[in-house]
Amino acid sequence: MTAQTKEQQDARHKSDDLRRWREEQYARRARSQAWLMDRESGGSGRLQSRQLRDLPRPARCGWPLTATSIRLRDGKAYIAGTEHCANPWACPICTPIIRTRRARDLRMAIERWKETAEHGLWFLTLTIAHRKSDPLDVTLPIVSNAWSCMRGSQAWRRYAQSNSIEHYVRAIEITWSPQHGWHPHLHVLLFTRGTREPDRKSIINMWTTTLQTIDSNRKAPSKRHGVLLESADSSVALADYLSKTPDKRRDIASEVARGDRKQARRNDGINPLQLLDDGVIQQLGPDQAKRLWTEYVDATYRKRTITWSRNLRRDMGIGGEEPTDEQIIQRSVHGIPVIDLTTEAYRMLRTTPAIHSYVLQRVEDGEVPIAIQIIDECTASSRN
Ligand SMILES: [Zn+2]
Repeated sequence: MTAQTKEQQDARHKSDDLRRWREEQYARRARSQAWLMDRESGGSGRLQSRQLRDLPRPARCGWPLTATSIRLRDGKAYIAGTEHCANPWACPICTPIIRTRRARDLRMAIERWKETAEHGLWFLTLTIAHRKSDPLDVTLPIVSNAWSCMRGSQAWRRYAQSNSIEHYVRAIEITWSPQHGWHPHLHVLLFTRGTREPDRKSIINMWTTTLQTIDSNRKAPSKRHGVLLESADSSVALADYLSKTPDKRRDIASEVARGDRKQARRNDGINPLQLLDDGVIQQLGPDQAKRLWTEYVDATYRKRTITWSRNLRRDMGIGGEEPTDEQIIQRSVHGIPVIDLTTEAYRMLRTTPAIHSYVLQRVEDGEVPIAIQIIDECTASSRN
């Protein structure tokens, strides 16, 4: 095979992967919106204008605001003129955009930190004891408050000093499994001056004490599994951890920031976006999948996904303020208009994920006339 055809084949595979991925996300979004609107309308399918306003924003993501068009930016096609919810948890379209951007910043911070040989990186996982029946809007605040309380405490300050912890990045991950229910937990990346391993026992003590203060009725976290500390330098430990994610960007930054990966860590259950997939819906039954999904949308509303310690961005030379979720989404939508869409054409695309993703692929491959032809034909047939 000549180099050129190999390159062309790789480009084709990448483009097909992207098309399939988009199709999956559009289908997920359609299902999420159907479920959220169904709940708001009490199952009648009809919404009054007051109810439309009360819909959670992910339910309106992709709704046309003005005239819509297909645009190109950095070789990627997308549809402009629509509402974007900028939800970092529960939107199959916005969530990956936001998290990929955050992972990029984090990757840069990690690379710069590791330029100094005497710097260490540690991957800390903090969990709480929970029952299958615990609602997510109870356990999620406990997990996130516990971290704020712990790292704001005198004990943590002393601990960070004696263990040379300079910075941290903390992210919340949420999984669900039929055996254990909701499992919100924390991933924290610790940046240490020096390569000595931070003392795990003290973290267990601090974590247990903090949880006890926040919710004295809750069982203490498991001594064995409640606090995990792994070196993020050791390629073996990392490879072992990360090989469980089929996501292509297998690195620690993605691991901390993303959360849209297909399979959660083994035995940890599923990623909530999978509740929108046919296979999972078949296993759980549509009623349970829908109930869990709406519970997740509500419980994560306005919760922060990832926080950086003060000065980490500055010290690593990552310019400017951390962008908000909204800013990340707004910046990603300034491209060159390629195809103007009629109201009907856009509606057709929005309701048929396979055509939607295929048309964007054609535009990215420079086949705009074909894209236009497909839009025209499918709009005409959806009219009949
Ligand atoms: Zn969205």
